Amino acid sequence: DQAEFDLKRHIREVPDFPKPGILFYDISTLLRNADAWQVATGRIARVVAGWQPDLLAGIESRGFLTAAPLAQRLGLGFVMLRKPGKLPGETISLSYGLEYGQDTLHIQADAIRPGQRVVVLDDLLATGGTLAASVALLRKAGAEVVGCSVMIELEGLGGRDRLDVPLHTLMHYP
Ligand code: 5GP
Repeated sequence: DQAEFDLKRHIREVPDFPKPGILFYDISTLLRNADAWQVATGRIARVVAGWQPDLLAGIESRGFLTAAPLAQRLGLGFVMLRKPGKLPGETISLSYGLEYGQDTLHIQADAIRPGQRVVVLDDLLATGGTLAASVALLRKAGAEVVGCSVMIELEGLGGRDRLDVPLHTLMHYP
């Protein structure tokens, strides 16, 4: 039964990855299970469709995994938010702080027509830094960001509070 399907059963928790003391939530085990992947994309599709976007944006690289197939399924275009040095042509970028150091995301300058409704997708929300930066970058590129969706929300880090758009999450951990 789709409504009862327990997606969390398919998330593998990997201690000490990528560094000692970090508990990593691995989505590979969900992706490789056909039923779990169907249920997950189906649930995300229902919510995202309700926001009536024109385009979906995926954050490199695990955000691509949901955004691209979902865009296909909903008959929408797909836009990549990428790390530096990957996108050809003119880009718009935004740098944001990490726990240690900085990261930067780019989008092609002509990717969004002014006012297009965009939903941004990633695999996991922790501090919210990545998603908040992506929303800001999309706005800089002319988008109206109408929602965000991630598969996993780590609730204890307050990431949700850093976003000023609706956020949908499939699975929750403390
Ligand atoms: P934030 O910017 O919210 O602190 O971190 C979220 C970003 O880090 C996401 O792009 C996500 O892919 C990555 N990330 C951090 N921790 C994990 C984790 O435990 N599992 C997975 N799959 N991604 C993580």
